[in-house]
Amino acid sequence: MAVNLPQKQPVQRPDANMVPRRVSILGSTGSVGCNTIDLIERQPERYEIEALTANRNVALLAEQARRLRPRLAVIGDEERFGALKEALAGSGIEVAAGGAALIEAAQRPADWLMAAIVGAAGLEPTLAALHRGAIVALANKECLVCAGDLMMREVARSGATLLPVDSEHNAIFQVFDFDRPEAIERIILTASGGPFRTLDPAVMAHVTPAQAVAHPNWSMGAKISVDSATMMNKGLELIEAHHLFGLAAERIEVLIHPQSVVHSLVAYVDGSLLAQLGTPDMRTPIAYTLGWPERMPAPAERLDLAALGQLSFEPPDLERFPALRLARQALQSGGAAPTILNAANEVAVAGFLGGEFGFLEIASIVEETLATMPLDKPASLDAVFALDTEARGVAQALIARFRDRL
Ligand code: NAD
Ligand code: MG
Repeated sequence: MAVNLPQKQPVQRPDANMVPRRVSILGSTGSVGCNTIDLIERQPERYEIEALTANRNVALLAEQARRLRPRLAVIGDEERFGALKEALAGSGIEVAAGGAALIEAAQRPADWLMAAIVGAAGLEPTLAALHRGAIVALANKECLVCAGDLMMREVARSGATLLPVDSEHNAIFQVFDFDRPEAIERIILTASGGPFRTLDPAVMAHVTPAQAVAHPNWSMGAKISVDSATMMNKGLELIEAHHLFGLAAERIEVLIHPQSVVHSLVAYVDGSLLAQLGTPDMRTPIAYTLGWPERMPAPAERLDLAALGQLSFEPPDLERFPALRLARQALQSGGAAPTILNAANEVAVAGFLGGEFGFLEIASIVEETLATMPLDKPASLDAVFALDTEARGVAQALIARFRDRL
């Protein structure tokens, strides 16, 4: 039987003394984007900003651009081009809008790029950065879920460096012995369990979007917060880990850890478990990637284990959180399943946030979409896009049927 061993990351060691480092941030107005800017502004002399991008928030993008002085600022929504142009008039900063401009932002010659767009919308720009062999700090997990094989192939081909930002994957990256992958037995992704960890399904059926986005430990964007509440986030992370570390689904465990202090673990053949710990502050994993291969200071509150006293762990409940089961099944089925899972979930989360249906319907929509569609593997990027579009259409049709029933 072929054993799926983790692969050594093709690591390009940049000159650590190369100051300033030229950086671009895709999704600069989001939660991860703003945390990245917070770190950069603490040591501005170390960075030169090539490009900043956002989807619709012209005011914040323009404010960031005036402070950080990028060469290029891009707004995804073409209708907002005029507003961005006006907001940056006289600044000397080049402005652009639309999908092609987002890709161009990723192609510009930054040494380091933060991929922090949310959803499959980030796939093409992230691939563009990988294509030119950049150091890519990857927050945008959905693009690995929907096209992980294609992305990892591009990393291998171009010699790009992919640094995980997601706190669990960043933790694993920090303690994973890439030189001795045969010594690794399995990896363990920790999960807080989200705001509804102990909630009865009958109550869960009636939770509001505001309750779902109120994560107990982490402050994050709306979509990932809902994903944490359904535990689809951990499911997406399972697939993300499979691609980043080259491990089969059976060798990736999920462990509930409500305090979010142990960010994940690697289990070795001799029984050793290596973990990375810290307070739940994304600036620590972002700093790890921004300074890489050096360590840079980050302002996260320091972990006081004595004050904390206890840490707790429990197995995940796949009955109350079916999204996690669906994601594991999608990884095991392979083929089209992860792309469909991701697309249906994006549509379902947007519908739930828009008040169209209840919380429990999110996983039902994903499950039904998966059951409806053939699972043939998309062989090219175009096939991935076609599949993603088709799955969104199927999920929308299911939602329309839900609405008719209400
Ligand atoms: P967010 O919603 O706060 O920000 C998303 C950013 O992407 C914004 O700048 C927005 O303008 C941009 N964007 C959204 N849709 C776009 C589109 N169609 N085209 C171009 N740009 C678009 O999200 P976030 O919480 O910062 O998360 C970003 C990514 O990082 C997600 O994939 C998420 O799963 C992942 N992540 C986030 C955290 C966190 O702490 N927030 C932690 C781990 C992983
Ligand atoms: Mg995470």
